Amino acid sequence: MNKTQSFSSLHTHTTFCDGKDDIETMCRAAFEKKLCAIGLSAHAPITKKTGIESDWNLKDDKFEEYVEQVLAAKKRWQGKLEVLLGFEVDYIKGLRSALDSDITAVNPDYLIGSVHYLIPSNGAKPFTVDGHSEEFLQGLNEGFGGDAQALMHSYYDALAEMIALGGFEILGHADLIKKNSHGKNYWPEESELCRQKEIAHTTGEAGIIAEVNTGGINRKKINETYPSVTFLRFFRENNVPVIITADAHRAEHIDGNYDFAVQTLLSAGFSDHIIIFRKSDKKIICEKENLHN
Ligand SMILES: [Zn+2]
Ligand SMILES: [Zn+2]
Repeated sequence: MNKTQSFSSLHTHTTFCDGKDDIETMCRAAFEKKLCAIGLSAHAPITKKTGIESDWNLKDDKFEEYVEQVLAAKKRWQGKLEVLLGFEVDYIKGLRSALDSDITAVNPDYLIGSVHYLIPSNGAKPFTVDGHSEEFLQGLNEGFGGDAQALMHSYYDALAEMIALGGFEILGHADLIKKNSHGKNYWPEESELCRQKEIAHTTGEAGIIAEVNTGGINRKKINETYPSVTFLRFFRENNVPVIITADAHRAEHIDGNYDFAVQTLLSAGFSDHIIIFRKSDKKIICEKENLHN
């Protein structure tokens, strides 16, 4: 596969949120790897909107500076590298979504919609399924009385609500919940697969792109992509376009494990085409790319 034309890296984090490198370093890495585009996708701020304190989301008072710096990078790299302004926006029921006016007001090139936080219905503290295992177990016990299956349903409910609401282009790490549950037999596999089938169907209906995210492999948390091969098969059956992303939190991971993602897609039945993401004039378009090239 010719990386020069085919690959982008649209899921990236910088020192503005929980990344380790600055915008310029990330852009240079994308240029050196001959990617066709880089998208900066800071975790959109949540504290002002939701009251949830977070040490990994962009701070509310850094929002404008982030936008200015990405737009400045876009100018600096013009003609050499496509630089896109994006956000990874948390969906937090009733509190935060990609439709919020603070996000849409800056006219981003694209948005990634992600579920990290669960809001337990018993009033317990919101927690993220993306955190350390201790945080996950504490959330499971305090928020769901130890009922792991209820927690799993709560995650996929939030994902389904986010997709129904829309306002974003890329569905972020659709089975993120496996980061803390993989191989633990917390719930019957079959019940999770049912939820994944539903999600794949609604994603297809909504015309949303699913990312094939290598971030968990890059950071040595898991040894497979988000989503899994099985979940990707469901996306394939529903004609959901996919895009490979690295969820890069440092420059060295800008296209980390993309070859593995290609192999995963081939195993999932994306034998003919993968969709890539490019910006044409003012809108983002999908183009098909043959995986066997
Ligand atoms: Zn994420
Ligand atoms: Zn991310």
